[in-house]
Amino acid sequence: GSELMRGKRGLIMGLANDKSIAWGIAKACADAGAELAFSYQGEALKKRVDPLAAQLGSDIVLPCDVGDEASIDGLFEQLREHWDKIDFLVHAIGYSDKSELRGRYVDTSRRNFAMSMDISVYSFTAVVQRAEKMMPDGGSLLTLTYYGAEQVMPHYNVMGVAKAALEASVRYLAEDLGKDGIRVNAISAGPIRTLAASGIGDFRYILKWNELNSPLRRNVTTEDVGGSALYLLSDLGSAVTGEVHHVDAGYHVVGMKAVDAPDI
Ligand code: NAD
Repeated sequence: GSELMRGKRGLIMGLANDKSIAWGIAKACADAGAELAFSYQGEALKKRVDPLAAQLGSDIVLPCDVGDEASIDGLFEQLREHWDKIDFLVHAIGYSDKSELRGRYVDTSRRNFAMSMDISVYSFTAVVQRAEKMMPDGGSLLTLTYYGAEQVMPHYNVMGVAKAALEASVRYLAEDLGKDGIRVNAISAGPIRTLAASGIGDFRYILKWNELNSPLRRNVTTEDVGGSALYLLSDLGSAVTGEVHHVDAGYHVVGMKAVDAPDI
């Protein structure tokens, strides 16, 4: 690995298993010399996250449910027992009731709308409030979004609305924290088969569509996302903030693809 992240410490939130986008990012950071801490949601995930953290030389594995303010405070209190400051934070967390990630957006319930916004949008701001206090020398904050924020994608529904709000919050946070040398960015990842994605209707079709229609004619991997995250989290991205960076094999630039057989 490189030395890009040597001497930097970061908190990775949202690791569930080795298919998680958080895992691709954590590996890239560790490979570049970063020291990592992890947070996980619920005791059931601890037994998965512990060995993954250990694989990257970390034994700082702390519980946090981002739907609960006291739990977020608890996370940062425990983190301070290990480190007095951090250089970066990754928020790879989203949630919506999967019964509403199929069918029509218009049928979204008030209850699930509020919960999706709370867990998938507000939680980033809530975490940034605490992280800011541990970044006296500046830092880099990163969240994960999806193209369904910008364009209508099948079944993405309320998550598309939530991701649009998350992307807007990245811009506001970037302005608020920029004067303290803290950068705030998002990666808009192409579809990847993860636990969270398995809740989305027709996900296999979405993957195939992206593979066939993206300029690179392939899907993206968590390693692809890790590489781009490394740029945003390290000093390579030192003048980049408020950005939504697409890591999607170029899918977002295509309006319409030419037919391969021209006489359709
Ligand atoms: P994942 O299931 O591996 O990760 C989602 C994580 O969110 C899990 O670790 C889960 O524990 C955590 N989480 C959910 N509710 C939580 C809560 N209340 N408190 C704490 N943690 C909570 O799936 P993933 O695809 O790696 O998702 C990571 C991020 O990437 C999400 O924001 C997702 O929307 C985004 N994203 C995913 C894709 C994709 O196709 N997989 C594409 C673009 C963006």
